[in-house]
Amino acid sequence: MSLERIAECLTVGKTAVLTGAGMSTTSGLPDFRGKDGLWKNRDPRLLASISAMDNNRDEFVEFYRHRIRMLQGVEPNAGHRILAGWERAGLLKGIITQNVDGLHQAAGSEKVHELHGSLKVVRCSSCRAQYDSGVFLERADCPECGGMLRPGVVLFGEMLPEGPMEAAGDLSETASCFLVLGSSLEVSPANGYPMIAKRSGARLFIINMTPTPLDHLADEVIHADIVGALGEIDLRVNSEQ
Ligand code: ZN
Repeated sequence: MSLERIAECLTVGKTAVLTGAGMSTTSGLPDFRGKDGLWKNRDPRLLASISAMDNNRDEFVEFYRHRIRMLQGVEPNAGHRILAGWERAGLLKGIITQNVDGLHQAAGSEKVHELHGSLKVVRCSSCRAQYDSGVFLERADCPECGGMLRPGVVLFGEMLPEGPMEAAGDLSETASCFLVLGSSLEVSPANGYPMIAKRSGARLFIINMTPTPLDHLADEVIHADIVGALGEIDLRVNSEQ
């Protein structure tokens, strides 16, 4: 039984997890790149970009205020809480995430490497001061220096943050079990981590609603709802401990 194999691998205590948009859809947060999450039917790549921030400032601010508002009141789901529990129990070494919603931390996970930054914070483009993203709903200029505030996420056209990328690489190299949850594994560098893990000898498990380009590398591929699958795995983990 495939979920059984995942539970067994977890109990070794060296598991790394990679999460994507599918992790949060159960919390009612649509993928902003998907058709359900589109804002005003606009191509998000044009709005969530450096060029929009510089040349289309008003719409850029409106788009991010919309996304920050959507995030307010969204709670972690049972899947986020299960992962946090595994970390507390010493089974999980860390989470690499493509999500910017902060829901892993809200559920209690501490070792979270956010490849695409966070929508929970904004920072000043001039003095780098950081604020809770709620500030951005009130004002788009820095309370300290009057500089331009910007969301703490990585925009299209920007480099990913080095710290989280490096930590994600280390985690992938040292994991004995690598679990992909709700990522379509189509975006680099996120899709590189499962390959690093596999090359370093880890078992690779992919749980996603749809097939991914790395399914052929995986030891198990499960097309299922993530929260449900994690619940099943958690039952088995608890019965083995
Ligand atoms: Zn400032």
